[in-house]
Amino acid sequence: MIEVKNLTKKYGDKLAVNNISFKVEKGEILGFLGPNGAGKSTTMNMLTGYISSTSGEVLIDGTDILDDPKKAKANIGYLPEIPPIYVDMTVDGYLNFIYDLKKCKMPRKAHLKDVCALCKIEDVRGRIIKNLSKGYRQRVGLAQALINNPPVLILDEPTVGLDPNQIIEIRTLIKKLGKKHTVILSSHILPEIQAVCDRIIIINKGQVAADGTADEIAKNITNKHKMTLRVEGPTRSADDKKLITDAIKAIPGVKYVRADMEREKGVYDYDIETDGKTDIRRDLNKLCADNGWNILMLQLSDLTLEDIFLKITMADEVIRTDDDDDETSSKPRIDIKVSPNGKLRAVKEADSTDTADEAAEKAEDTDNNGGEE
Ligand code: ADP
Ligand code: MG
Repeated sequence: MIEVKNLTKKYGDKLAVNNISFKVEKGEILGFLGPNGAGKSTTMNMLTGYISSTSGEVLIDGTDILDDPKKAKANIGYLPEIPPIYVDMTVDGYLNFIYDLKKCKMPRKAHLKDVCALCKIEDVRGRIIKNLSKGYRQRVGLAQALINNPPVLILDEPTVGLDPNQIIEIRTLIKKLGKKHTVILSSHILPEIQAVCDRIIIINKGQVAADGTADEIAKNITNKHKMTLRVEGPTRSADDKKLITDAIKAIPGVKYVRADMEREKGVYDYDIETDGKTDIRRDLNKLCADNGWNILMLQLSDLTLEDIFLKITMADEVIRTDDDDDETSSKPRIDIKVSPNGKLRAVKEADSTDTADEAAEKAEDTDNNGGEE
């Protein structure tokens, strides 16, 4: 339904969106997750044809948004970061205005009634928008996006500034909308995205840092070089600890082994770290089989989506301290990078070229996209 190829946006010298590509299938709810300034709104503005891209392509149901904007845009309902509402109008006046603007052909009365019922704004239709609470205003913004029943909905931080009850209401509504529409929504809040979306794209510094379901993302970024082995030794007592630790240490590629607490009677867990290049799982298996030890568990140290998101954000902060000439930081520098083949990898040293990027970000904040439509 939506296809994005090598999409890039530069504001002057500042690369806000850097060569991102992804597809969204019909009926999917896709979440854009990323810290502030990651490029979410810029991407959404390009998807909806609100601003032009520097390079790359956006196809909405096969139509290029820049080649045939009318046709492509007819498929999209957009709720921008700041809802495009006229606060001096009544809700009804405004929605009728949008109905005309979109040249909607659906039966006016019935359609507006349906949209208002869906967004739960029936009881405020006669009210002036500026007198409504933020939650209601946001729902009016959503109603505007739903007029003419577009198959694609693009919602930029739809719950920002709402109270917890309102957030739950909007989430429930988005989930409901996801049954009939293809939805992309953005947020910088992880639980929000996790609660609503089938699939997640993590955007960081204008690039796709991860793409998949929450489980897939967590699995892909698993620390393959750290694992825990639970193994039943010959004596089923503490005497096994040294024997097994030494035997694991002898496997090529193993850097560190430590026997952990007794997890089951007479059985210990061994925390193992490798050089990061060698996959020792088969050697471990062979070692245990040859000695007649039973493997009761082998677990790679999984990261939750939250760990991953924090790592991405943390890497940012480490870089920021570098900007302040703090070279003495002893924090581990971990970053998650995308390889050219699209695979994710965790790298320890943050790429020093990013520092320049961050400095540029601090320097700019001008609104230089005027003139673009
Ligand atoms: P997000 O929505 O993820 O918070 P944005 O897409 O708004 O991020 O911004 C991405 C980057 O582009 C930020 O560094 C932001 O400061 C910059 N940016 C956004 N809009 C403009 C603009 N009109 N002119 C210059 N820089 C901009
Ligand atoms: Mg934004």
